[in-house]
Amino acid sequence: MLNNIMTEGECSKLRSLIHHANNIVLCCHVSPDGDAIGSVLGMAEVLKCMGKEPVMVVPDQFPDYLQWLPNTEKIVRYDKRSDYVDMVLKIADLVICLDFNALSRTDDMEAALEACTAPRVLIDHHLNPSIACQVCVSHPNMSSASELVFRVAWQLGLFEQLGRHFATAVYCGMMTDTGGFTFNSNSPETFYIISQLLTKHINKDKIYRNVYHNYSESRLRLVGHVLCNRLVVDAKRHAAYYTLTREDQKNFNFIKGDAEGIVNMPLQIKGLRLSISLREDTEKPNLVMVSLRSVDDFPCNLMAADFFNGGGHLNASGGKLHCTIEEAVKVVERAFLAYEDKLK
Ligand code: 5GP
Ligand code: MN
Repeated sequence: MLNNIMTEGECSKLRSLIHHANNIVLCCHVSPDGDAIGSVLGMAEVLKCMGKEPVMVVPDQFPDYLQWLPNTEKIVRYDKRSDYVDMVLKIADLVICLDFNALSRTDDMEAALEACTAPRVLIDHHLNPSIACQVCVSHPNMSSASELVFRVAWQLGLFEQLGRHFATAVYCGMMTDTGGFTFNSNSPETFYIISQLLTKHINKDKIYRNVYHNYSESRLRLVGHVLCNRLVVDAKRHAAYYTLTREDQKNFNFIKGDAEGIVNMPLQIKGLRLSISLREDTEKPNLVMVSLRSVDDFPCNLMAADFFNGGGHLNASGGKLHCTIEEAVKVVERAFLAYEDKLK
């Protein structure tokens, strides 16, 4: 059985907030990943089950490899339809924030969320939540926000009524945030949840293929190019980084989502503990997107906060630098040096 993630008080507060709301907005962080989209779609199913019709809002584009998920066509992008979202937020009487811990993680949508006076609920697994809310379901030790959505549904007593769309979204979110259950997924309860999801007749092997075997030929060749020509391994410090320039992205027909997973690959090298990706933004000049991945106890989130204006989880973090790619490389070198002892 599962341990509860909300107190009795929180659970009834949540139930009552939902019960009394007519205009519910679900939202997630910028550059939504599988967990962001999975938790939004999963929570939408929970709300539908309670007789509500929530509006799902995301700050910007999400990757093609998530478009197959049922109901993604109903998700509204703030960067495309800000007037509509502003209107929806104006009349909202409940906002549920999924998979992020600070309003700034919604980038251009931040001001609109800040201005919205509706009560908020947070369902998230990042450290140090800073979003003022009526109910805060924050559990940094959990695999994913999608797992939390499952547990919320479970605790509300709704799981029996939920169907395949719910299970597909939640499974997809849990799978992507754990790298196909290869990290952050040692809890027996995680696998109990999976066993329950399977009772809804999801095809977990197909979900895996839909997400991970859904790239273009040019993306696979981009991986080859990065590993051959761009990867720099600092074997002494057990760390590696690579750059992905604007030109590389153009040459290999880069689309959103194509960078996914590449940053994990250097960790296949024996003894390596840290891998960093530096990707030039394709639109804004002098913006470098940073991704960090580590193994064991190396704190990516501390390094991301110290050097890359970011944060995240212990083993998976991100951030950004407002400089050229050459200057970004220098920052990485300084970060490796500063964390030399922790990399041992
Ligand atoms: P990714 O490398 O996939 O972009 O990000 C990995 C994780 O790092 C995300 O799930 C998120 O938790 C965190 N993250 C990414 N970018 C940022 C950022 O700019 N600020 C913070 N605080 N966390 C980030
Ligand atoms: Mn997540």
